[in-house]
Amino acid sequence: MTTPMETLGNLINNRPSASESERRAPVFNPATGEQRLNVSLSTADETRAAIASAQAAFEGWSKTPSVIRARVLFKFKELVEANRDKLAEMISLEHGKVFSDAHGEITRGLEVVEFACGIPHASKGEYSLNVGRGIDSQSMMQPLGVCAGISPFNFPIMVPMWMFPVAIACGNTFVMKPSEKDPSSTMMLAELLYEAGLPEGVFNVVNGDKESVDVLLTDERIQAVSFVGSTPIAEYIYSTASAHGKRCQALGGAKNHMIVMPDADPGQVVNSLMGAAYGSAGERCMAISVAVCVGDDVADNLITSLKGEIAEMIVGPGTGPFSAEKREPHMGPLVTKQHQEKVLSYIDLGVEEGAELVVDGRGFKVEGFENGYYVGPTLFDKVTKDMRIYKEEIFGPVLAVVRVDSFDEALQLINDHEFGNGTSLFTRDGDTARQFEENVKAGMVGINVPIPVPMAFHCFGGWKRSIFGALNMHGPDGVRFFTRMKTVTKRWPTGIRAAGASNEFSMPTMK
Ligand code: NAD
Repeated sequence: MTTPMETLGNLINNRPSASESERRAPVFNPATGEQRLNVSLSTADETRAAIASAQAAFEGWSKTPSVIRARVLFKFKELVEANRDKLAEMISLEHGKVFSDAHGEITRGLEVVEFACGIPHASKGEYSLNVGRGIDSQSMMQPLGVCAGISPFNFPIMVPMWMFPVAIACGNTFVMKPSEKDPSSTMMLAELLYEAGLPEGVFNVVNGDKESVDVLLTDERIQAVSFVGSTPIAEYIYSTASAHGKRCQALGGAKNHMIVMPDADPGQVVNSLMGAAYGSAGERCMAISVAVCVGDDVADNLITSLKGEIAEMIVGPGTGPFSAEKREPHMGPLVTKQHQEKVLSYIDLGVEEGAELVVDGRGFKVEGFENGYYVGPTLFDKVTKDMRIYKEEIFGPVLAVVRVDSFDEALQLINDHEFGNGTSLFTRDGDTARQFEENVKAGMVGINVPIPVPMAFHCFGGWKRSIFGALNMHGPDGVRFFTRMKTVTKRWPTGIRAAGASNEFSMPTMK
């Protein structure tokens, strides 16, 4: 007898809420290829119910003093810490990334919670004394209302945590729509938020796809939409949400380049590149997918070293337990069979386009896990800028080496690319580094740092078609995004008396 497969529903008004939708999507364990559960693809009405719950909670939550809101987040942080292993296991089970990497994701998410715990300070606003005689100006930051978050599969905990901690700390209420590929860990976060004492309705989770998203983009009760995902969807989200009068920050895809100068430390370059290209099987928006080598010697030496390192890589299921005998793999499977097939087709394409396939990750099998969605680490040399494998985001363990003759040529390559999320330069030369940081067209820049993900108290976001919208995630931009500024200019009656009350008809200016 087989037990019926679980179907993950929603969490509305702090209660699990089964979906009535007839549509559902399978969620797999990518390490084995087995289906774990189904996730409901909620109806438009169910999405509206989540918005209604958040709307009803807004008045009370927005008037709750910010120190008390922050205390809920302090407690939430403790609970996430206490449940770390369970959360990391769930990430690994549904996404496929290795256990230690899943822990890393939780840590980076928690840093945003820590930042949001400082909201009484971060949202103090501004005050100017005596802008005119006896007149003061105060800018206050007020919450917006109901905000929505739509997240991608590759960071099911960290990306939602870029959004909701800051939003709710600022006094907003929230509807989260996780990725339908790995929704369970986001749902676990919602349960921990309520255990931490969050009032009913402040945070709601709706599982679904375009049908739910379209409600979030168009319903007049939603004030702001935060999105992270692929560029075509980011553009759609931004244009639709904006056309419906909402604030929107929509982060898209990437193709991150690392320039390797002849004076760079070769050992440091190889170590950095291995993790940046193949960590999380390349399914990171900040992964390095292009190494730009300045000079053929640099490229030849790098290729030789990378080949040696790749040969040592362990690829396998990322979910523990691991021990001295059973070492944790460096890289797990890709998220779904469809994504595996897409990445494999890009490797075929690279060969057709004439790039030199140095290490071929096709046909890669892990013993005992033959149905898992694995692609072996792949390395292309002599990739050129007209090739599709250079221009398009592959989002897998595929590293392209591009050879150029000068730093200027390398910089131009990055600046001409459609995407501008992250980038990195490896050099020992201060002048080159300065030129790079000043002139490169990308939002997050590393100097001898391969994955320059900003800390939570700075902002995260790219340039060009890696972002739509003016404000980045977390840091000061996050607080700006989730608050509306109101500037009060005030003069009290005694001031009027002192000045001798009289009508003033000309434009007010400073006297
Ligand atoms: P995706 O765009 O397919 O999906 C993201 C979200 O959008 C999901 O919740 C999905 O349900 C929803 N969605 C998908 N199609 C939709 C449609 N037609 N209409 C409305 N909603 C839709 O992205 P993904 O495959 O889950 O994630 C990988 C992508 O995310 C990569 O391109 C990666 O670079 C990007 N990403 C970017 C950043 C960043 O900071 N710039 C961070 C992480 C991931």
